[in-house]
Amino acid sequence: MGKYSVSDNGMYGHFGGAWVPEMLYPNVENLRQNYLKILASDEFQKLFTQLMKDYVGRPTPLTYAEKLSDIYSTNIYLKREDLAHTGAHKINNAIGQVIMAKMMGKTRIIAETGAGQHGVATATACALLDMKCQVYMGALDIERQAPNVARMRMLGAEVVPATSGNCTLKDATNEALRDWISNPEDTFYVIGSVVGPHPYPDLVARLQSIISKEMREQLKEHTGNELPDYVIACIGGGSNAAGSFYNFLDDESVKLIAVEAGGLGLDSGETAASIARGTEGIIHGSRTMLMQTDDGQIVEPYSISAGLDYPGVGPLHAYLAHCGRETVLSATDDEALAAARLLTMKEGIIPALESSHALAALPKLKFKKDDNVVVTISGRGDKDMATYMKRFFDK
Ligand SMILES: *Cc1c(COP(=O)(O)O)cnc(C)c1O
Repeated sequence: MGKYSVSDNGMYGHFGGAWVPEMLYPNVENLRQNYLKILASDEFQKLFTQLMKDYVGRPTPLTYAEKLSDIYSTNIYLKREDLAHTGAHKINNAIGQVIMAKMMGKTRIIAETGAGQHGVATATACALLDMKCQVYMGALDIERQAPNVARMRMLGAEVVPATSGNCTLKDATNEALRDWISNPEDTFYVIGSVVGPHPYPDLVARLQSIISKEMREQLKEHTGNELPDYVIACIGGGSNAAGSFYNFLDDESVKLIAVEAGGLGLDSGETAASIARGTEGIIHGSRTMLMQTDDGQIVEPYSISAGLDYPGVGPLHAYLAHCGRETVLSATDDEALAAARLLTMKEGIIPALESSHALAALPKLKFKKDDNVVVTISGRGDKDMATYMKRFFDK
C-alpha cells in the first residue's frame, strides 16, 4: 500500500468516500466487496490483457517528438492513447468494467455520457462482450453530439434522452442512478472517469494504470531509465491523468502535472478549473473539489473541450493536489487551440481538444536540456475537427 493509495473505506486523506442515498448502498457495496478480488483473478487478468493487446492495440506507442523537443529545449515523449481503438483512453476502462460486470453475473450495462465519448467506449465494449447497453444522455447533448449518438446506435446501444434539468450530463447521471436503483440485480453501472462513490475512483484508476505501466517499460527502452522527470496530462474527471500518474506516485522524483480547462480564463467565471476555482464539497457520491456557489449550488462549468467540461474532479486528484504531490496548472481555450495547431503542424498528430490542454502546459514549465518529459495524448482530434475548422479557418 503506497502513501497515495485509497483506504479500505474509500478515502484519499479526507477526500473520496461513498456518499450515496440508502437505496443505492447495496449496489455500491456489492461492487466494493468484489472488485479487488475480480481484478486480481486469473480469469479477469487473462481476458483484460488479451483484449488490451489484440483488440485495443496496446501497448500504445511512446513517440519521441523531435520538433517539440527542439522548441522547448528538452526531451518530449508522447503517450499515444489517440491510437487506442475508438480513439481515446476511455476504452481501457469500459472494457475492464464490462468484463467485471459479466464476472459478477450481470446481463445489462448502463452508462451516462456528456460528449458521448464514454458512451461510445461503453457501447463498443458491450458489442464486443455481448451485453445489453443503455446510455443515458441529456436531450440537449443528443442534439449537440450527433456523430457520437450515431456511433452508439450503430453499435447496438440504446441512447436514452434525459429530459430533466438542463438536459445535460448531470441530468443523465441522475437518470442512470435512478435506473440502477430500480434494477440492482441484473444491471452494472459503468462510470467513465475516476469519479463517483468508492470503489469507482479506485477501480477506474487501476484499469487506466496500464498507461503508466507501459510508459515505464517504454521509457526504459528509449532512455535506459524507466522514470521520467515530468508526466503531464489533462484532467476532466481525471482518469487519463490518474492512469498516467498511477505507477509513478511513489517515485517522488517524477513531477506530476495535471492540467485543468481554464475556459475563457480562471477569473472569467467561464471555466472548468475545479481545483483552482473550486471548494470542497460532495458531488456524485464523493467528497472532492467542485465549483459551487456559497450555498452549495453547482456552478455550470465551461470549456471549449466537452470532455473537460465537468464541475468536479476525482477525489484522488483533490488529494494529490492537496498534498502537493501533483502540480495543477490550467490552460485556456485559446492556449489549447494554439497547442493543438503546433502539434499538428510540427509532428503530424491531430490531438483531441482535451489532450491539447496538456500540451499547452509545455510553455508554462521550465525544463532542463536533459529532462525526459512525457505528455499523454488522451485522444485523437477527429471529433473536434468542426471546432478546429471554425477557430482556424472561418475568420
Ligand atoms: C473524456 C476525455 C478526457 C477527460 O476525461 P478524464 O477522465 O479526465 O481523462 C480527456 N481526453 C479525452 C480524449 C477524452 O475523451
